[in-house]
Amino acid sequence: MSEPPRRILVVDLLGGLGDLVMALPVVHALHRRHPRAELRVLTHAPGDALLDHDPAVTTTVRTERGHERAAVLAELDRWRPDLAVTTSRYDGIGEAIEEVVPRSVTNLWRTPPPDEPVTARYLRILADEQVIDPDDVDLAPRIVLTRAERAAGEQVLDAAGCGPGQQPVLLVPAAGMAVKEWPHWRELATALSGRAFVVGEPSVLEAWRGGPALLLPPVSLRLLAAVFAAAGRRGGVVVGPDTGPMRVAAAVGARTVGIFGPTLASRYGLGPTGADLQGLPDCPHRCPTAITEQVCWWEAQCPISLQGPACMADVAPGRVLDLVRGRVSVPASSGDQLALGSPGQK
Ligand code: SF4
Repeated sequence: MSEPPRRILVVDLLGGLGDLVMALPVVHALHRRHPRAELRVLTHAPGDALLDHDPAVTTTVRTERGHERAAVLAELDRWRPDLAVTTSRYDGIGEAIEEVVPRSVTNLWRTPPPDEPVTARYLRILADEQVIDPDDVDLAPRIVLTRAERAAGEQVLDAAGCGPGQQPVLLVPAAGMAVKEWPHWRELATALSGRAFVVGEPSVLEAWRGGPALLLPPVSLRLLAAVFAAAGRRGGVVVGPDTGPMRVAAAVGARTVGIFGPTLASRYGLGPTGADLQGLPDCPHRCPTAITEQVCWWEAQCPISLQGPACMADVAPGRVLDLVRGRVSVPASSGDQLALGSPGQK
């Protein structure tokens, strides 16, 4: 590029919290390459809050669902960026950007290899397009928290009865969609002998009331990130399926155990602090580079099992427990039985 850009627009309107977290390294790599440029991010709520206090971001613009194209057009008209990068092309968003912005990268999904992580793919394309530094292709998602937020996260754990010397195990059972539901949560929580804390929305917590795990109070997204960070600092671990909150946990440095079924961990894994378990890795119905086209994706109709997603059931609770044990100190007594559990056992 001859002239360095002065105004950079990053658009992430894929709709998921996890999608935005996977795009954070794009924001950071662009800022590192162009530190003097104003950088604006256009995205959805509630993920936009994850960009608060991020020194790479000058402004965050939030748009409502269903109004994405109009929001992009308004931003192009109002702000006139000279470099734009978008993860989202639908509804003519990509073409609209190409028409107006002098330099743009609008297809980060071109010919994705099934075994290349999504974020790495984004960064490699941007490096090939010479809008980021080639040395930044390994950046991992990172969320910036303030000191006060970190302290608040510590307080939530303290108030829940997790002392500073305890390594908390945080369970994030909400899957966001039926095809990612894991059927073995209760067995895992029981095996953890009262040392696990469930994290989630009020409806999730209500379903666990009186169950085999302690409950953390419902909190805002940024405070949740701070709680994950506090758990990470205490040497704890966060366990859950391939969801946005799990990506938030990894992005604040917590160690994670990810339970992967319909998505491939090789492409959607939780990154360097994560240990990912894959159910039914050879399922012939999986489309690793076009997951929304999978027969099971929207309705969780699994051709392999009438009981629900066979790949999620295939991740036995003993496998998860072994990984949790490898990361925190967990009494062995009740977990030994689980470690022998057969795939799909409930
Ligand atoms: S078809 Fe069944 S086993 Fe295969 S990815 Fe979908 S839910 Fe999982």
